[in-house]
Amino acid sequence: MSTARSTYEVTATRKRPQDFDRLVGQDFVVSTLENAIKENRIAHAYLFSGPRGVGKTSSARLLAKSLNCEKGMSAHPCGECESCRAIAKGASVDVIEIDGASNTSVNDIRAIKEEIMFPPQSSRYKIYIIDEVHMLSTSAFNALLKTIEEPPEYIIFIFATTELQKVPATIRSRCQQFRFQLISQELIMKCLASAAEDISIKADEDALFWIAKEATGSMRDAYTLFDQVAAFSGDHITLQKIREKLAIAGFSAISGIISAVLSGDMKKAHEDLAELFADGVSAEQITKDAADYFRTLLLYKEGIRRTDILGSALQDIPESIVSLLTREQLEAGLKAFLSLYRDLRYSLSPRFEIELLFSRLASLRNLTSPEILVRKIEDLKNGVAEGSVVIRRTVNKAIELPNISEEKKKEADLTEKESAPEMKATEEMPEEIPPQEEEPSYEDSSEDIRLFSLDDIPQVAEMLSKMGKAVAARYLDAVERISENEDGSYFITLSKALAYNSLKLAEKEVSKAIAAVMGYPVNIKLRLEEEKEISDDDFSDDMRRLKGFLGGKLMKTAEEKENKETTEIKGANDYESIRDVEADELDSEQP
Ligand SMILES: [Zn+2]
Repeated sequence: MSTARSTYEVTATRKRPQDFDRLVGQDFVVSTLENAIKENRIAHAYLFSGPRGVGKTSSARLLAKSLNCEKGMSAHPCGECESCRAIAKGASVDVIEIDGASNTSVNDIRAIKEEIMFPPQSSRYKIYIIDEVHMLSTSAFNALLKTIEEPPEYIIFIFATTELQKVPATIRSRCQQFRFQLISQELIMKCLASAAEDISIKADEDALFWIAKEATGSMRDAYTLFDQVAAFSGDHITLQKIREKLAIAGFSAISGIISAVLSGDMKKAHEDLAELFADGVSAEQITKDAADYFRTLLLYKEGIRRTDILGSALQDIPESIVSLLTREQLEAGLKAFLSLYRDLRYSLSPRFEIELLFSRLASLRNLTSPEILVRKIEDLKNGVAEGSVVIRRTVNKAIELPNISEEKKKEADLTEKESAPEMKATEEMPEEIPPQEEEPSYEDSSEDIRLFSLDDIPQVAEMLSKMGKAVAARYLDAVERISENEDGSYFITLSKALAYNSLKLAEKEVSKAIAAVMGYPVNIKLRLEEEKEISDDDFSDDMRRLKGFLGGKLMKTAEEKENKETTEIKGANDYESIRDVEADELDSEQP
């Protein structure tokens, strides 16, 4: 069989069907034409439409052969007579092939009009095959129209087009139309396997699967790609060779990287990605393959099991990842790569973009649809109402909302009511509400309100000026930090003793100004940066327990104490991260 290879002929040509039985994937077209020939119902104009490379031109030649076979008109032309052989070689004087793309002018059509006045030289019919007929100009179409309306008995037109909608309706209505379809992946694979056998090359199924998939329904494209692959594959076509030579990432490579990402092994993910780049796989190709991966998994999740739709063999699909990710998450993955593909050409570095996107995929699992989120929040609310969810709060830097909560107000400060609307002086506060007397946990379904912070200081200063306390307002510049205490009051820490003393004198006004800015009363305690040593009682239970455990001494300043406690519960900075003990995994970072 090696002789077949030495006299090289492209597979698409070699495998061109010489008989309708060999025309693959167009059963309807074949049976209709066969019947018409058998029953001698011959039209004078045929219009073959459909995607490229699915057999339109081949069918036109087959039809010409069938009509002109010297052994009689037949759906199975002999293939041996003069006419059959001439047509197969494209050398028949009575079968004229015209490329509509390069013969578009009205003059070309006029030439045809003149020619058709002469009967066929040696055959039954004079047959014009006009490929890409939609490319003809309007005037050419008009000239053609008159010709096909009343052609001589011996004239047959076979038009072929990939763009049926561009062929004028007047032409279409005068033709017998055949729509050619894309050829199934399965059928293409079969044909490829047979092509490989013809030239004694071993071909792995996954390799042929890949070629068939790339061909997207076009037999000709499949054969062309097959030839390309066969050329570098030696006597064995494998997916590995294809991947190396054509620099594609492929489903399994992408699958491996994404598995690594989702299992948190970013090191492996980036190394594997780097390897793909090193192999010469382009950023576009990786992006395309990754989009393909998510599309496949999404369709699989929807219940699709047909490999020609999935574009991947079933055994390659990672079930674990399909079940790990929700539909929304798979959609998000697909969307991310599709939009990256659009953006790649504007990118400073396509490679960076891809690396960034793969990094971000690590959080794909945390992605929740708005519906699920709303449901979870509802569940959480219900849980809080029933008491089954406990919101634990060690320090309340950011989640504190005490002054708007009714019960809180009660526990927090009895004097507040008496002194309202005048804010009470705060000197006595520390004795009244030592932090550690607070309950370690609350049940609280508070709304998300704005907390008093450094950002509010400029406004407070402005308000203070308006209240006639311009000097005090200026000292607000010395506010070093604002931190919330467990009882809902705020420590306003000042860096300068002068500022501290001045503001201390205007403490009532400061409180009022803050309340005016925030829209609710805020308890404040002014402090100077360097505070005196405080007793262990000023620390929370946890801190004292820690001290008992580690020994040593607790921090000397209130600032330090605060910092320590803040560090301790860093996660609580985010209201969303409420430690819901038993509800669900809204926050996946739960300790
Ligand atoms: Zn013949």
